[in-house]
Amino acid sequence: MAVTHTLEADVLRRQDPEMADILAGELARQSRTLQLIAAENFTSPAVLAALGSPLANKYAEGYPGARYHGGCEIVDMAERTAVERAKVLFRAEHANVQPHSGSSAMLAAYAALLRPGDTVLALGLPYGGHLTHGSPANFSGRWFDFVAYGVEAESGLIDHDQVRTLARTHRPKAVVCGSIAYPRHVDHAFFRDVADEVGAYLIADAAHPIGLVAGGAAPSPVPYADVVCATTHKVLRGPRGGMILCGSDLAERVDRAVFPFTQGGAQMHAIAAKAVAFGEAARPAFAVYAHQVVANARALAAGLAAEGLVIVTGGTDTHMLIVDPAPLGVDGRTARGRLMAAGLVLDTCALPHGDARGLRLGTAAVTTQGMGEAEMARIAALFAAVLREETDGARARTEVRELTGRFPPYPGR
Ligand SMILES: *Cc1c(COP(=O)(O)O)cnc(C)c1O
Repeated sequence: MAVTHTLEADVLRRQDPEMADILAGELARQSRTLQLIAAENFTSPAVLAALGSPLANKYAEGYPGARYHGGCEIVDMAERTAVERAKVLFRAEHANVQPHSGSSAMLAAYAALLRPGDTVLALGLPYGGHLTHGSPANFSGRWFDFVAYGVEAESGLIDHDQVRTLARTHRPKAVVCGSIAYPRHVDHAFFRDVADEVGAYLIADAAHPIGLVAGGAAPSPVPYADVVCATTHKVLRGPRGGMILCGSDLAERVDRAVFPFTQGGAQMHAIAAKAVAFGEAARPAFAVYAHQVVANARALAAGLAAEGLVIVTGGTDTHMLIVDPAPLGVDGRTARGRLMAAGLVLDTCALPHGDARGLRLGTAAVTTQGMGEAEMARIAALFAAVLREETDGARARTEVRELTGRFPPYPGR
């Protein structure tokens, strides 16, 4: 593997040193700073190999056995393998592995189930809803009539009473559960019950937790939702891309909604890489990984709480934590800037109360690197020291370099 990668890197360097330098610079950045963005991870060299394979050359509109192009017999095997692995991994009757991204999966889910103008109930954007959950800047907000539920200002937990009341009042055609910033498990049985009461479809947007589901570290939405949309690149650790899981009853509608309704030719290199990632996620080692991701998130939350930061919802069930740094005298934007300068890379996010911004971080990437609870305690201490300006940027960066140097994401590269 290492030889192949060295050779490939050399090909690029010989032909295009300018671009080779940019790629090397990004590898160095990923290796020498702490990747705490909740949506990011490090794919395996095997996934990267599939992504960089000649499957990238193949046009394959349609589905295995029914393509609009010749020469698809090999890539058909790749897609059938990806679909079979996804079905087994998530115990789903049907899987579509063609969506180019999580957003494309959501677009296809709406296209399969809804007509323009239909009412959809989803978590509001200020509370952690995704752009595809009704943002006016997104197709969803433009083409559908979104009604937003929220979280309780005090607890940060989904306001279940409000969800039920809004569903009864607005009679949505679909209910969406799932978020970009909810650190707790979603109560899928509750959402199924609400959807059934008003005759709505239930769409689970499991972009974030689907990797934990694969590793048995989070409850699966598959038994409850009509359609499950997901990404393959977050905790799941595959290539950038999307996926849809559903029952046999909706299989044909979902497939037609992906192609030809919202997408063209499938990206066969990405589909092969998804199959590789599903294969990895089916192994016992991935279950260990998924549980360690959660243990690390809890250790990081406990460490940050001990330093005086507020952990929204009081903790986490997942890989993600939402943190209010206000008790340390900084808002989310200032905090992100200081942490960035120290080599800790993360996002700001909305908080359930007030206008101040908080911080969103996750442990999927650092756990892939092999870090455990001891490293989370160190990161929490460094985090607080940086925010309190008890350490200068150079000293903090040295500590980050020392820590990441012991856990290289791609050893030998
Ligand atoms: C990440 C995410 C998406 C979109 O994924 P992209 O691949 O960036 O389009 C959709 N919904 C939720 C809840 C997400 O977290």
